Amino acid sequence: MEEARLRPCLLLFTNRLSSIDYPRHMPTDSGTTPGLDFRTPDEPFTGKAPFESWGRYPNYNANVVRLHWQSDYPAVASGMHNGVLPVGMGRSYGDVCLLRDGNLLDTTGLNRLIDFDPETGLLTAEAGTTLAQILDFTVPRGFFLPVTPGTGQVTLGGAIANDVHGRNHRTAGTFGCHVTQFELLRSDGEQKLCSHTENPDFYAATIGGLGLTGLISWAQLRLRPIVSRRIDYEGIQFHGIGEFLDLVQQSRDTEYTASWIDCASTGRNFARGVFMQGDHSTKRDDLRPSSDAKLAFPFNVPGFALNRLTSRLANAALFHKQMHERVVSEQDYRAFFYPLDKVLRWNRMYGKRGLLQFQCVIPEDNARDGITAILKEIAKSGMASFLAALGVFGDVQSPGLMSFPLPGITLALDFPIKPEKSFALFGRLGEMTRELGGRLYPAKDATMTAAQFQSFYPQWQQLARYRDPQLTSSFWERVTPNS
Ligand SMILES: Cc1cc2nc3c(=O)[nH]c(=O)nc-3n(C[C@H](O)[C@H](O)[C@H](O)COP(=O)(O)OP(=O)(O)OC[C@H]3O[C@@H](n4cnc5c(N)ncnc54)[C@H](O)[C@@H]3O)c2cc1C
Repeated sequence: MEEARLRPCLLLFTNRLSSIDYPRHMPTDSGTTPGLDFRTPDEPFTGKAPFESWGRYPNYNANVVRLHWQSDYPAVASGMHNGVLPVGMGRSYGDVCLLRDGNLLDTTGLNRLIDFDPETGLLTAEAGTTLAQILDFTVPRGFFLPVTPGTGQVTLGGAIANDVHGRNHRTAGTFGCHVTQFELLRSDGEQKLCSHTENPDFYAATIGGLGLTGLISWAQLRLRPIVSRRIDYEGIQFHGIGEFLDLVQQSRDTEYTASWIDCASTGRNFARGVFMQGDHSTKRDDLRPSSDAKLAFPFNVPGFALNRLTSRLANAALFHKQMHERVVSEQDYRAFFYPLDKVLRWNRMYGKRGLLQFQCVIPEDNARDGITAILKEIAKSGMASFLAALGVFGDVQSPGLMSFPLPGITLALDFPIKPEKSFALFGRLGEMTRELGGRLYPAKDATMTAAQFQSFYPQWQQLARYRDPQLTSSFWERVTPNS
């Protein structure tokens, strides 16, 4: 055990960096290895560059400055005009990680593991460390993330700032529920240790605080023990929202649940899908990593190829990929949690215009009728969604002030951007969500109106009080023009 205990050294992830999919703006071909760049703080990577979020919309220029040391931050931020925003891997879909003509502080160079205690499962790492990097280190040592989103390519800082959720929200709540403490750097140079007991107001405001309260320089997280890297998986086909909700009820004792749903079919096949559930295997086996070959999406798909017919074909293929009504198997955790990470840059599938994601949560009482009505509205619009997911949120309370989940059903759909139709549809879906008592997810959003945001998150004014005066984002400017 002593060997696995790393206090107090700093571990650089030297042997793992090759498997990481870096955001486009990073200087990967400059002769330096991302994350191992020892330029002195007075020589940061800086330059005008299109920093893209995962949806590739909106597309803004910004001055991107790469931080190498936590101490870079106050010096860099205090000298900047036009606003500053710390960013991670840019895996948010819309503009929470964008700042038009402002300064983006790229934190992915702050990716050092600081401490790990296998007795308690407490891990401390710099905030630019990705969840995939953390798992590469902890899985062979018998520990797993308490909560993970559908990609490992997000940073610790990004996971806290959006208070991300995973397939186990019913039992584990959000990511923020497991963050024991972190350090917040303010642009005036103040360092704040934040936890339930130290600066608890900043702790709450920063979890789900959209990167606006300061730069998270490092964070401590409580991991959970595992004995296998495998997941006992079961996939069950369903036909309609009623059957989906029955499966949700029947799966109360299963830790992880998620569903893929066909939202291109109508009539008999309307809202058919595959319900996926799993638990960490209790069979002791080899925790060592297996090979993780990746494919890269080779080109931007032209807009004309993204239509209702191709979406129907893609959805039918996904449904029939599972040949039987019920399938049981063992899956590596990467296949179960991160199927999309297999294909690098899969967002190119949506062409140069990019994609919009719609993610809402509808409270339990309205879930059956509400989700059905939203799916019908989408079918009526003729807009094609190639990837749609249904999930369930429980009632575990997040410590974060602005956390997205509330008990109910969440629906997430990707749409290629068709300017003449997409924005009108998103406007209608946002209003339906509001009427159903639900809310939209800022991490996935590029279209929410200020009125919608302020009714979904009435606590936004409290967040505004904790905002670092230097920090802002294009999302924040869009949804709080009156602040
Ligand atoms: C394929 C895919 C699947 C996804 N699945 C899920 C899912 O299942 N559940 C879910 O909740 N989300 C999901 N997401 C969204 C993603 O998890 C979040 O958007 C996440 O916050 C992205 O992290 P990032 O490191 O890329 O941060 P960015 O997108 O770069 O930034 C996100 C926010 O974090 C802030 N931030 C980043 N670093 C810091 C820091 N050090 N200090 C302060 N603020 C900081 C930024 O200002 C910004 O507001 C998914 C995204 C993709 C592409």
